[in-house]
Order: sequence, then structure tokens, then C-alpha cells
Amino acid sequence: MRNLALAALLLAASATRADSRWQFHDSFWMSLHQTLIDDATRQTPRDLSSWTAGERAAWNESVAEYRAAGGHGDITFTAPMTATTEGIAAAPDNAADVADTLPLAKALRRVAPVYRAHGWASDEKVNRFFIAYASALVREEGEALVQRHEAVYHATWPKRFLVYVTPSAGPFGAYTFTGALGTITTMASREEGYQGFRSLEMLLHESSHAIVYPNRGPVADAIDRAAKAHGVTAPRNLWHAILFATSGELTRQLLNDRGVTTFVPSSTEMFTKVWPMFRDPIAKYWVPYLNGEGTLDQAIDKIVVAMTAPAQ
Ligand SMILES: [Zn+2]
Repeated sequence: MRNLALAALLLAASATRADSRWQFHDSFWMSLHQTLIDDATRQTPRDLSSWTAGERAAWNESVAEYRAAGGHGDITFTAPMTATTEGIAAAPDNAADVADTLPLAKALRRVAPVYRAHGWASDEKVNRFFIAYASALVREEGEALVQRHEAVYHATWPKRFLVYVTPSAGPFGAYTFTGALGTITTMASREEGYQGFRSLEMLLHESSHAIVYPNRGPVADAIDRAAKAHGVTAPRNLWHAILFATSGELTRQLLNDRGVTTFVPSSTEMFTKVWPMFRDPIAKYWVPYLNGEGTLDQAIDKIVVAMTAPAQ
């Protein structure tokens, strides 16, 4: 019975997927592009021992081209990578080839047969499964969460996001940028931190990057005003901690209302492992604001004061 209900939900999701604000894509070329970005930046090289010498040589040549084009560190936002992402996104998901104008067209074409032989079938299965549950979640509850986010951020959500679900998606498992085609989010289907109910939280988080910026907009302005008013330096990454906290807490509350009582948001993990300095100020001053207490400016002012107060 339970399985039948799930099957019906997934079928309904695939029928109405195009109506959602989030338009999901499972693309061979985008998955290959992200896999090459991953290989160009990863610490430990992929195990290619079962491949032929020719396949290995071709793959390594393409990875070297990605490395040369992207440079060091997080290369996802470099011009050759985003131009290639946009070029792939401009074509249908099942396109037979990539356009000559893509900066990395040659590197992609060289290893397309290798990826078809060695990774794609498995990756596609994972991508499709991810899209099935993530699209069902945003179709059911995405709009309710958008309304709450809009009220928190005093900003209007874009009408459309292109979401490419790929085996990997940069060093953090997802990233978002806005270009000629609008906002494109790439999200990793194989990363545990994005799977299941986390996909709902993280799709809202990634979409938030299209309306909340580090240097402008209501959140950045409020941080700037508070820092100036108190003569302190604004806490680094506070704007991003606010994004994590907001999507995490609003998703947790929504799921809790729907009987999912054990959901641990990604933000909880962030504030435990990566950014412990934000945990208490956010819990004390931001979560009450999410629940309707005071204004955005007041909440941010209190956080900035708490985080910059001299030690006693
Ligand atoms: Zn983010």
C-alpha cells in the first residue's frame, strides 16, 4: 500500500514537473561536465584501473584541459566553466553533441564515449531517482516555503530556476549562478547532504542565492548598518549563515507539521562542524525572527552585537 502511494506520487510529479518553479534536468553533457570539474579539482584521482589505456589517456587529457582552463581552488564559477554550463543548458538534455562555441567542447567530446561506457548509466539512474523525489517535494511544498522565505528576506522569488542534477557539483555539492538563461543551480545526486528531505531544504537554500547577496540587498544592508552603528567589522559569512539557518529551520518546521519529526537540517550540521560561532546567536536572535518576532534589522543588529562584543 505504502509503495503504491509512493508510485502514484512520483508519477504525478513527473506529469507536472514542468509546472514547478524548479525545472529539473538530467543531462548527459552536464553530468560529464561536472564529473570533469570534479576530477580536475579532487585530491585523490579517480580509479581508472579497469579502463583501457586509450580511455585513460583521453580522460586524463580532458581533465588536464579543465585544470588549465579553471586554475586552482573552486573552479565552478570561473568563466570557462560557467560559459560551458550555460552552453549545455541552452541545448536539450538529450542533445547528441555540444556546440563548437563552448570553451570546453573539445575536452567534453573527447571523453563522451568513455563516459557513456563507464559512468553514465549508473549516474543517470541516480540522477533520475533524485529528481523523482526532489520534484515531488517542491511540487507539494516548494511554494509554501517560498512564501515564508519571501517574508523573511523582503524579496520576491524568481519565477524559474533551472536545476541540473548531476553526480557531483563542485566542492560543496551544489552551486548557483545567474546568467543569460536565468538562474542555474547544479546539485549533486550522489552527495548524502543533499539527498532525501535535505533536497527540499537545499533547493530552497540554493534558490536563495538568487535573491540574497553578500554585498547588496536587505540582509547585506542590515549587516552593514549594524556594523557601522556599533563601529565593528561585520562577521564574515554571516549573510551565508543566515541563508543556511533560514532554509534549514523553515524546512524543519514545515516537515514537522507534516509528521516528519526527525529531520536534521544541513544548517545544524554547518553550525556544529564548520561555523560553531554562529550557532548561539542564530538560535537566540534569528530563529525568533523567523517565528515572527521583531524585524529583520533588529535581529541582525542583535547578532552583530553578540558576535562582536569584546570578551569579558
Ligand atoms: Zn549557499
